[in-house]
Amino acid sequence: MDTLSQGMALNCSRRGFFVLAGIGLNTAGAVAHSFEGVTAGQVIERIQKNVGVPWRSETVDTFKIGSPETIVKGIATSFSATLDVCQRAHAQGMNLLIVHEPTFYNHLDETANLSGEIYQTKRNFIEKNGLVVWRFHDHWHARKPDGILSGMAGALGWEKNQSPEQPRLFSLPAATLEEFAQNIQRRLNARALRVIGDPRLTLRRVFLSPGFNNFPGMMKALDSPDVDLLVIGETREWEGVEYARDCVTAGKKKGLIVIGHVPSEERGMEECAKWLKTFVTEVPIQYLPGGDPFWRPR
Ligand SMILES: [Zn+2]
Repeated sequence: MDTLSQGMALNCSRRGFFVLAGIGLNTAGAVAHSFEGVTAGQVIERIQKNVGVPWRSETVDTFKIGSPETIVKGIATSFSATLDVCQRAHAQGMNLLIVHEPTFYNHLDETANLSGEIYQTKRNFIEKNGLVVWRFHDHWHARKPDGILSGMAGALGWEKNQSPEQPRLFSLPAATLEEFAQNIQRRLNARALRVIGDPRLTLRRVFLSPGFNNFPGMMKALDSPDVDLLVIGETREWEGVEYARDCVTAGKKKGLIVIGHVPSEERGMEECAKWLKTFVTEVPIQYLPGGDPFWRPR
């Protein structure tokens, strides 16, 4: 073999090697993709792209436990990752939990001061079964429209009565305070809902504010001439609740319904499951209701 031939042979074999290597890589890549699927981190990247509001640098919307590298088998959305919800998700083959509220009993999910049997039981269950929990709070609320509010308006059957200027304000067919309370209780399966005001009072204009409500917001809503009925998730009983009582004593024709935090927001995570299905198609996605934590004696 002369020098030229040697060179050509080398080139040919090199090219051949690269071509083969390329095929090998592509094939391996395709196989890996179809078998391995999507990671938890990739699902969250898609959420960040699709939510339609800039991602905040300071947010509680982060992984709480489990690795973002985990291959997702199924996604469960829920109000929170209670031990019960974790067990049900695992039993149904879902290993990524997307939840609205904390997993470890405080807003920032700080675990440094947590200890004891219940904390360990939950943590062990999640780790042993390879579950991943990611919180979706700030940006699901910040989305336009607010994902929680949309889900709740839908669950209550109030979507068509929503004010275009003030999405929390609803102009509804006139009903008594007791009828409103019964209707909300039934539709949301709110077992421990509570009411302030005259049950026979006829009302029409409702301000719906799911989740926790601070006092200034409640005062503003109860003072507003556009609001007959304030419906909230929860508040401190010695602030806004006392103000509502004083409204009644002062002769204002107003009512307050306290649904409970979970039933006031959880259907917003059903809305989240529907929304996720529009851009995550590789794995099953299901809303798991946590249910009202409270019950009342008959
Ligand atoms: Zn919320």
